[in-house]
Amino acid sequence: MPELPEVEVVRRGLERWVAGRTVADVEVLHPRAVRRQPGGAAGLVAGLEGRTLQAARRRGKYLWLPTDDGEALLAHLGMSGQLLVQPPDAPDETHLRVRLRFTDGGRELRFVDQRTFGGLSLEPMSGGTEDGVPLPVAHIARDPLDARFDDAAFAAALRRRHTGVKRALLDQSLVSGIGNIYADEALWQVGLHYARPTETLTRAQVARMLAAVRSVMGAALERGGTSFDSLYVNVNGESGYFERSLEVYGRRDLPCSRCGTPIRRDPFMNRSSYSCPRCQPRPRRAHW
Ligand SMILES: [Zn+2]
Repeated sequence: MPELPEVEVVRRGLERWVAGRTVADVEVLHPRAVRRQPGGAAGLVAGLEGRTLQAARRRGKYLWLPTDDGEALLAHLGMSGQLLVQPPDAPDETHLRVRLRFTDGGRELRFVDQRTFGGLSLEPMSGGTEDGVPLPVAHIARDPLDARFDDAAFAAALRRRHTGVKRALLDQSLVSGIGNIYADEALWQVGLHYARPTETLTRAQVARMLAAVRSVMGAALERGGTSFDSLYVNVNGESGYFERSLEVYGRRDLPCSRCGTPIRRDPFMNRSSYSCPRCQPRPRRAHW
């Protein structure tokens, strides 16, 4: 599952390679990849051919390309979806699902998806032209890297939630784009236990936590920043957070780099939470 920094790397690649180009034709090679599109393959072809892709936008892990007729081509990356920008003579990928050719005859945009949980669809926009999002994304909160993210409003909403702090960080209607890895890393940085009740957080703690989230995401983004310079864009490619030095995530029983205590892994929402028992003590009152 791609995390926000990976999706941002892809967005920058698309902005550079695809924005401003006009779609000549669309080829759908698997019906599942267009199952969210009204009218299926024919609907996508009819809606996209002749349209100019204007930019590449993102909110959280959602990525879309606004078109010149006020719609947006929304990419659902699912578990394994990739958007590749390939020369026309590059051989088809094994799991190629959709191909866009452009009127300039240059690089194609290819949607490749091994497990076909993802797909492409044309969506109406909600909101203004400057700040609009595709309708299916309208309920998703801004992410902490968004220039219009409101720190004070987030702090207030968080303290009204009465939930555990990690649950809140993973709640896409409150803040988007923070996955399990970045939540664990940020909470370790600021010494907060994942079950800490949000209503007990001070404004200063929330500010430090947001700074930590931005710092771990920013670091991943810098590392990923090298891969979008290459000739193809790969959402599961070299931008990977597995390369970065993680302090707690996936480090069960290894010593905490701050205090030497073995890192603990707890089951959490069908996944795991990694934390340092000493740096992130269990709160007296907790929301599991
Ligand atoms: Zn520690």
